[in-house]
Amino acid sequence: MSTDERTALVVGAGLVGTLTAAMLASRGWTVTLLESRSDPREGTHAERARSINLALSPRGIEALRSVSEELVERVVREGIEMRGRMVHKNKVGKVKGKGREVRVEKEGQDYGRYEEEGECIRSISRTALGIHLLDHVDGLPSEGRGSVTTRFETKLVEMDLRKEDGVDVVLQKKGEQPKKMHFHFVVGGDGAYSKVRQQMMRGSKLRFDYRQFYAPHSYLELSIPPGPNDTFLLEPNYLHIWPRGEFMLIALANQDKSFTLTLFAHDSTFTSLDAELASLAPGAPNPVVELFRREFPDALEQMGEEALLQSWRENPKDGLITVECSPYHYKDKVLLIGDAAHAMVPFYGQGMNCGFEDVRVLSSILDHFGASPSPLVPSPLPYSLETASLASFSKSATEGDETALARALATYTHLRAPSLAAIQTLAHQNYTEMASSVLSPLYLLRRSLDSILTSVSNFPLFAIKRDSDPLKDQGGRWESLYRMVTFRPGLAYEEVIRRRDWQAKVLDWAAKVVGGVVVAGAVAGVGLRYASRYRLVRAN
Ligand code: FAD
Repeated sequence: MSTDERTALVVGAGLVGTLTAAMLASRGWTVTLLESRSDPREGTHAERARSINLALSPRGIEALRSVSEELVERVVREGIEMRGRMVHKNKVGKVKGKGREVRVEKEGQDYGRYEEEGECIRSISRTALGIHLLDHVDGLPSEGRGSVTTRFETKLVEMDLRKEDGVDVVLQKKGEQPKKMHFHFVVGGDGAYSKVRQQMMRGSKLRFDYRQFYAPHSYLELSIPPGPNDTFLLEPNYLHIWPRGEFMLIALANQDKSFTLTLFAHDSTFTSLDAELASLAPGAPNPVVELFRREFPDALEQMGEEALLQSWRENPKDGLITVECSPYHYKDKVLLIGDAAHAMVPFYGQGMNCGFEDVRVLSSILDHFGASPSPLVPSPLPYSLETASLASFSKSATEGDETALARALATYTHLRAPSLAAIQTLAHQNYTEMASSVLSPLYLLRRSLDSILTSVSNFPLFAIKRDSDPLKDQGGRWESLYRMVTFRPGLAYEEVIRRRDWQAKVLDWAAKVVGGVVVAGAVAGVGLRYASRYRLVRAN
């Protein structure tokens, strides 16, 4: 290694860690990418990943693009377009001679402007996406500046932050003795149960805040096989939802024409059904099949009872953890990224997308501060954030930080914290929308209003122009919350919340005006009728 080389250790070759390694290499770092599991491209990869497929949105795609255009092309080809939700509703009716019957009605609800702007999210296999990313880093130089060396079946065991320059770490390869190594910079992309984060929490010098909590819901994955003659049994270009309030089933298509389904239910529901199953008398109706027959009859038909029960027995019922911490960095030594910094419930399909966005934001900030060995041409700052406010922040808040990297990481924490808090809040709130609001007539009315206002605000004459409007540079268009979160990579999540709140106020105001006009019209109508009757009486 030459003396001017700057070494970075990225812990975790998950989706976010691998993208981080590629981004750092593109900025001249000499990167080691560490992964405790085996290489997913080899047959020995036994561990079951969390969800089988994921929804990749334009936020994630833009972040991939900031690393490699060619990577984006490969990934996009792999994904199956989802243009909207397909809501499966149960209609209970009485059929002559048969009694009570459940009929399933499906309703497509488009996410955005697919026809006009090609807006969609993509269902993609977690493993395939991970392999594309690993293939990309394998294509980079294997030593020296700009290289990535990937070490599988090797884990971070310990980290010592007391050194003046860089970080001492202890790494251990499976079946071997632990080894001490030294890196200038360590990135923790090692997921919700991060070892890097755990090591940052040791000692009080850092004043590191941390909180984790579980959602009441757990999840279980099921599947619908391909149909006859290699066909899909459900419409592939939708994210299917069976919203049932306290629980919910969703389905995303796979390339092999199967669907992966995820059942979200309160943990206590899973536990009590498991207990019922354990003491089921011979010949008694199976409570899991009964639940599916009642709530998801069409999904059950395509899944098959045997397959349902097998998945129920064999697949894990996992919890949904939220992780919050602050700060994300320590001096110019360590940074947490992806789930290690902000694991969230998956109800907005943004966990990975937001983790990819971390990488894009980090790369812009590193470039802005010239904090990498070979920074690229300073890139525009992420989002519609004011360069001036960043400059004044960097000056005042990073005064004590000695190196460009320390200033960049402090700025990253400062800029990213409100965004991450915002998307975690939105992710929690979206459960209600997915599991129940999509059925309510009021929700559908709001959606219609949203789409009318979106169309109207597309005309320059009506474009919403306010000085404080975070989107004034984009014409200040009215957009639904889902669209802003999913299809507007340039819009910070906290700005999405500000804009949603502002739009909600406008809608409230409009509703009051419309309500007022209706009431005034009704009063005037009654008054006129009364007056004309009075005139008639007098005339008579
Ligand atoms: P991980 O994927 O957890 O990767 C961390 C890696 O670090 C792992 O490979 C692990 O083996 C390794 N590691 C851990 N400890 C060590 C160590 N000590 N040494 C070395 N290596 C280590 N997000 C979306 O954007 N869209 C979706 O549709 C979506 N759906 C989801 C559905 C479900 C049911 C769930 C649970 C999540 C979903 N997510 C979704 C969220 C998404 O899965 C995560 O946000 C994303 O995988 C986080 O990636 P990561 O690389 O930060 O962490």
